[in-house]
Amino acid sequence: MQKTYKMLGQNFLVDKEAVKRFISFCNLSRKDIVLEIGVGKGVLTKEIGPTVTRTFGIEIDPTLSNEVLSFSISNLQIFNEDFLKIDLKKYIQEYKINKIIGAIPYYISSPIIHKIMREIISPLQEICLITQLEFAKKLIGKERQRSYFTNFIERYARIIPGEKIEKSSFNPTPKVDSYYFKIKTEHNPEDSSEVVKWSRFLHYVFMTPRKKINKRFENKILLESNIDPNLRPENLSLKELEYIYNLTSKK
Ligand code: SAH
Repeated sequence: MQKTYKMLGQNFLVDKEAVKRFISFCNLSRKDIVLEIGVGKGVLTKEIGPTVTRTFGIEIDPTLSNEVLSFSISNLQIFNEDFLKIDLKKYIQEYKINKIIGAIPYYISSPIIHKIMREIISPLQEICLITQLEFAKKLIGKERQRSYFTNFIERYARIIPGEKIEKSSFNPTPKVDSYYFKIKTEHNPEDSSEVVKWSRFLHYVFMTPRKKINKRFENKILLESNIDPNLRPENLSLKELEYIYNLTSKK
């Protein structure tokens, strides 16, 4: 069965001002080799192309990848692939990709983030994404309100907030607003199994985000970690969570 545009999260950015703001946030230069997730009709691709050394696009819909290829952007190569299935590490290393950019399809935002974090490898430095506003807000978190995603990412990278993009900037217009932000790699994971372990640990911790942390761990462990047992998972800092993680994963 042919997948419809809705199933593929095809909402194209059409507002030129929003495109300009996002591209300027990506801070592109001649040194950059970019991988774009979901080139769509190429609004971002056209802006990225002339500024960087090379662009590689991953687009699942062959009609769209052919359309963008017909623009004859000289340093662009498009792979007609499902981003979730590619060997991302291989792409990064083989093509020396240092930036990933994408207005990513909403239905797979979480799997895309997980895949990128699992496969971070040098020379990848920055991941600049547009997602649904609510998803981005949760991911960025706040001082005492840190989500599964905030902690998942910040073990390896820094999250840099961006700005909101109104839903009216897209066609077809989605139900909700969007937001752009950046993830800057810092401590590359040793391997993907390490990221999976960290993710499992956090899933366990955040299974009941509003219940006290002593519902998840014995008081003895919390005491040893110097953590108030009355706190909730979202109140804990990355350092505190890492402390419990190290204590519990060694056993
Ligand atoms: N960047 C474009 C398109 C955003 S819409 C713009 O801003 O206009 C998201 C795009 O991702 C669509 O073109 C859709 O076909 C593509 N897409 C959806 N699922 C994908 C997947 N699994 N792998 C690669 N591309 C995908």
